[in-house]
Amino acid sequence: MLIALLGGALFWLFYSNAAPSAKFALDLGELRRVAGSVPGSGPTRIEIEQLSHTMVPKIAIVSGTGWGKIDMVRASYRVAFADGRSIIIDTANAEGFAKRFGAFSYDNGAWQRMIAAMDKAAAIVVTHEHGDHIGGLLETPHRAAAFARAVLTQEQVDDPAGSEPLQWPDLRALNLRPLRYDRLHVLAPGVVLIKAAGHSTGSQMIYVRRADGREYLFMGDTASLLDNVLLQRIRSRYVTSWLRGHQDDRGAVMAQVMAIHAALQSQPDLILVPGHDGQQMQHLIDQGLLVSGFSGQALVK
Ligand SMILES: [Zn+2]
Repeated sequence: MLIALLGGALFWLFYSNAAPSAKFALDLGELRRVAGSVPGSGPTRIEIEQLSHTMVPKIAIVSGTGWGKIDMVRASYRVAFADGRSIIIDTANAEGFAKRFGAFSYDNGAWQRMIAAMDKAAAIVVTHEHGDHIGGLLETPHRAAAFARAVLTQEQVDDPAGSEPLQWPDLRALNLRPLRYDRLHVLAPGVVLIKAAGHSTGSQMIYVRRADGREYLFMGDTASLLDNVLLQRIRSRYVTSWLRGHQDDRGAVMAQVMAIHAALQSQPDLILVPGHDGQQMQHLIDQGLLVSGFSGQALVK
């Protein structure tokens, strides 16, 4: 009896997947059209800073897989245009937060380069309001300058508790006007925000189409690892339920993962950028699809 109960709990926490709720629309043709709906050419280069590394059992992040540990990376991306403009996607977190949540290494040089890049960016966006994505924005020493560039959605602004233990500043004093959009929002030529509540109420994905046509999908923690998409398995309940404070809409996340999987089937060249997948990040760097380190320079095509 006890063994059956324990077995049931273990299954519920780590092995059971989710059934999709309402279907999630992810149409690459539509994204291309929206990405091209504003004048100007798309970005030419995408850079990455990897701020911290944490080893986590894979089964926590991809339910029903193995207990071996994988490298969870907190990262920031810089989408650079030929005219020198740039957009920052996600801001990872400062060293104190990283260490508190089990990071075994932290790159202070990367933190400094990210702060400098945030100061010069045309826009700073986050895939969602959790501290390991918005932490850099909340903890940069140049907060007023960074918030002047931040493009946060209404849903993100409405969920400061999602960033805990990090605290939000008084947004009225910072003149932040939240972005309201329905399903898709074109942020810049080639850059489209995709509303995707599920992992958190303020979650969104970001589609980027480079000037040369290469397409990226920044998935945030809808898919923290590439295997969330390839295996169509979401995070385990151990990390998505009230047990850890954050409660995901598991059905919504599952529908999103399935939609991404279908998009990948239709377009195998689509470059998937998971929220924390150290192995996939290194693979993309090795392929030249991400450039390691923020250059901070105006870039000429
Ligand atoms: Zn995360």
